[in-house]
This record gives sequence, structure tokens and C-alpha cells, in this order.
Amino acid sequence: MPKKKATKKKSSRSYAPPTYTPAEKRRAKTIYNKLLELYPDAHCALIHKNPWELLVATILSAQCTDVLVNKVTPDLFRAYPTPQATAKADLEDIRNLVNKVNFWQNKAKSIHNAAKMVVTDFNGAVPTSMDELIKLPGVARKTANVVLGNAFNINHGVVVDTHIARLSHRYNFTKHKDPKKIEQDLMALFPRDTWTMLAHLLIYHGRQVCKSRHALCDQSPLCTKYCSNAKIVATERANKTKKKAVKKKATKKKAKIKIS
Ligand code: SF4
Repeated sequence: MPKKKATKKKSSRSYAPPTYTPAEKRRAKTIYNKLLELYPDAHCALIHKNPWELLVATILSAQCTDVLVNKVTPDLFRAYPTPQATAKADLEDIRNLVNKVNFWQNKAKSIHNAAKMVVTDFNGAVPTSMDELIKLPGVARKTANVVLGNAFNINHGVVVDTHIARLSHRYNFTKHKDPKKIEQDLMALFPRDTWTMLAHLLIYHGRQVCKSRHALCDQSPLCTKYCSNAKIVATERANKTKKKAVKKKATKKKAKIKIS
């Protein structure tokens, strides 16, 4: 039997983002500015007082709402306010304090081990580089970007969560589904000093208007102008209203015939 040729899987590491045209960059900038007008106070929704608290909150927020994380963290930070205190804590106690979020067992373990590593390898301070942050248990690129951008004002990359991925498609910023490729595309399209705020703006718009289901496409002038989906949704809604009106008319006509 002939041997199958080994096919190389294209990794997102070797991915090169497209070269966006000046017009595409201008369009992206306009959308960014409009979003900034809509959400001037957009900020990280995870309540924190320092880089360590943000790191812990972000680890807890994986596949969990920020609202729930914010309910859990006050007790956790009261009991263990620093990496040193967390490193010395009993894992069982951390588990009990975070057991309302999903995957709490793994997350508690990650927080405990991350605290130990911060104490032993980083002198008790949350590291400030991507390479160091992703060495911590429970920390991947997305979490590291959140911490770098919001705790240290470092625009190393763009956070890509489900809202950002969805909106990046709808506004035609990217054609990819892989978060790493979406991030590369956004980094190529938007100026570096906007990356952290861009993520907040897209998350705000994703939560309030461009929801995953039942997006409120006709409620935002930004959408009607820049997202092709708005036109599709508007046509679908108009067709539905038309159909309803026709049905109503027919029912009324039938009722009239019955009476006479
Ligand atoms: S038009 Fe609709 S789908 Fe497009 S960005 Fe706006 S809310 Fe989202």
C-alpha cells in the first residue's frame, strides 16, 4: 500500500495577515471612532484593584460571565489579597471560594499554582511581558492580553473573545474563525495604541447591540451604515411585517364573509 503523503497543517503561528488598503484602514478607524462616541466609558468589566486581582479575575472569567466573576472575587481577595497569601493558601479553601464559576476546580488549581510561580519566579509581582505571562498556569494569550492592556497599559495584542470574533466578522475586519488569526488581522488593521480600547468597544457593542442572537441591527446608525447584515435584517423584518399585514387582511376578509 502506498504511503500517504504527510500533509502539513497550516499553523496560525506562520499566518501573515492581509495587507489592508488605506481605504480599509480608514473605514476601520471611522468605525472605531463611532464606537468610541457611543461608548466613551468602555472599560474592563472585571473589578480589580491591582494586576494580581485582574490576573485572577481573568483566569476565572474563561467561559463564564464577568458579572458572576465579580460576585466571587470580593470574598477571594479579602481572604487572599496577594500572590504571597494565595500561594500559602489551602487549595481546598480557594476551591470553596470560587465554586460558583464553571470549571472551578481547575481554575482554583491554576490560581494557586500561578500564585506560587509569581512568588518564586517573578519576585512576587505579576510579570509584564507576554512570554512570561503565558508561562503561568491558566494563562493563555487572551488572558495575558487582558492583563497587559488593562493593568499595565501595554498594547501587546488584541483580546479576542466571542463578541470580538463575532463583530470582527460582521464588520468585515476579518474572514477567519481562528482567534489567533483574527487577532493578527485586527493588529494589522488598527493602530497599536487603540488595541486595548478596541476590545472594550467591540465587547460593549456586542453586549448591547450586536448580540449573538437577535442583533438589534436597525437600532444603531453605525450598523446600518457599515454592516451588510443590517440591510439583510432590515429586508427580512420588512418582509415579515408585509406577510403579517397580508395575513391579517385575509383573516379580516374571511370573518366579514362569515358574518354576511
Ligand atoms: S448591523 Fe447587526 S449584525 Fe451588524 S454589527 Fe450591527 S447589530 Fe451587529
